Amino acid sequence: MSLLVVGSVAFDAIETPFGKTDKIIGGAGTYIAYASSFFVQPVNLVSVVGGDFPKETIAEMNRRGINTEGLQIKENEKSFFWSGKYHMDLNTRDTLVTELNVLENFDPIIPDSYQGSDFLMLGNLAPAVQHTVLKRMKQRPKFVALDTMNFWMDIAWNDLMEVLKEVDLLVLNDEEARQLSKEHSLVKAYKKISAMGPKYVIIKKGEHGALLFHQDQVFSAPALPLEEVFDPTGAGDTFAAGLMGYLASTNDISFDNLKRAVYFGSAMASFCVEKFGTERLRELTQTDIQERIAQFLELSTVKIPS
Ligand code: AMP
Repeated sequence: MSLLVVGSVAFDAIETPFGKTDKIIGGAGTYIAYASSFFVQPVNLVSVVGGDFPKETIAEMNRRGINTEGLQIKENEKSFFWSGKYHMDLNTRDTLVTELNVLENFDPIIPDSYQGSDFLMLGNLAPAVQHTVLKRMKQRPKFVALDTMNFWMDIAWNDLMEVLKEVDLLVLNDEEARQLSKEHSLVKAYKKISAMGPKYVIIKKGEHGALLFHQDQVFSAPALPLEEVFDPTGAGDTFAAGLMGYLASTNDISFDNLKRAVYFGSAMASFCVEKFGTERLRELTQTDIQERIAQFLELSTVKIPS
C-alpha cells in the first residue's frame, strides 16, 4: 500500500538542557518520511524547500525510498526555519523562532504518480494547506490522519475546524487536546474532539504513553522508560509515521490493528529522542525496530493465573 505524506521540510535549531545545535535538517514532513520509510516504500512526499536546502539530503531521501517528485524547490527563496528551547523536564518547550519563508505561500502540488495513495498523513502545516492536499486527491484515500499544533489553533482555528471534518484520525498531545477541546479531562476532550470530525483520536502524553479513542473504546499504550532523552523534537511526527507506516504496510484499519500501530508509533518515537534531530532515525535498522517492539510488549504484558 502507498503512503502520501505532507509536512514541513525545514531547518531547525534546537536547545535542550544537554546541548545546542546550529541549523540542522528538520521539519515534520522530514521526520515522517524518514520514519515511515521503514514500513512502506515509496513514501510519497509533498512539501516545499528553498534553494538553501541541501540537495544531498534530497538524494539521501530518494535512496531511502522517499519519492520527492512532490517536493517543490524554490531556488530563490529560503526554507522554513524553526527554533525551539526545551525546559528541564523535556516535555515542554518554547518556540523561539518560526520563519515560514517558503511555507508562507505554499501551494501543494500532487504529482499524478501520487494519485491513488491509500493512506494520507497530513503532517503539521497550515490547516488550509492540509485541506488543499486532501481536496486535490482525485480519490479519497482509505485512511486520513492529521497532526497539528497549538500554533495553528491560535492563528487558523476556522481552517482547522474545516479540515478536521474530513479526517479519520487526529493525533495530538495532551496539552493540544486540552486547548482544542477546552476540557481538562482527556476523556471529555476526546468526546468534544470526535464531535469535530475525527472518528479516531490519539492523545499522546509524552513519557506517559498514549491513549487511542474510538467510539466508546479506549486503549492505553505505554512509553518506554528511557534512561536518557536528548532531544524530543520530531517525536510526535515520528510517532505518527510509525503508526501510519504500520497501517499502510498491513492495509488493515480495524481498531485492533490501530492498537498495534500505536505500539509501532511509540517504538519509533522512542528512537527519535535518543539523539539530536533525525540522526537516530537515519541509522536505525529493521532489527532495532523489532527488538524495541519486543521491549514494549515485555513492558506492558502480564499473565494473571486464573
Ligand atoms: P514535533 O516535535 O513533533 O512537534 O515536530 C517538530 C518539527 O515541527 C520541527 O522539525 C519543526 O521544523 C516543525 N515545525 C515547528 N513548527 C511548525 C509549524 N508551525 N509548521 C510546520 N512545521 C513546524
